[in-house]
Amino acid sequence: MTGDVLVVAGAVLHRSRVLLAQRDYPAEVAGLWELPGGKVESGETPTQALIRELCEELDVRVSVGAPLADVVTPREGLKLVAHRARIVSGTPRAVEHRAIAWVDAQRLAELDRNSQIVPNDIGWIRELTAELQVR
Ligand code: C5P
Repeated sequence: MTGDVLVVAGAVLHRSRVLLAQRDYPAEVAGLWELPGGKVESGETPTQALIRELCEELDVRVSVGAPLADVVTPREGLKLVAHRARIVSGTPRAVEHRAIAWVDAQRLAELDRNSQIVPNDIGWIRELTAELQVR
């Protein structure tokens, strides 16, 4: 619907790990881990937005693959979609985040148990875990 904010996040996968980024702000999510990404700007496709966001946030070029899961609506006016992505050039670094980490299924489960995943991204844990286990 028009007026909705669409956020696209990247499940950057390598071997049996996914790249998570630790938020530095705002206070309510600082220290928690997320899939990096951001808002789709007007005139952009979600793929273009994800390429731009991961360049800004991680300083890498990515190729964007299929969605990880259906679009979710954590609250009215906000839609979230995650796409699989692969690094095609560069080495990721935390430009806007506090830290980044390559996380395997076991570490992902631990972060989830300890409530260290941002609330918006919790819905993707099942799909992410499945993705990490088949690699
Ligand atoms: O475009 P920008 O980087 O400012 O977008 C940030 C927005 O995307 C924030 O509202 C943030 O909460 C949301 N986001 C999210 N889940 C992610 C990545 C970003 O909800 N995994």
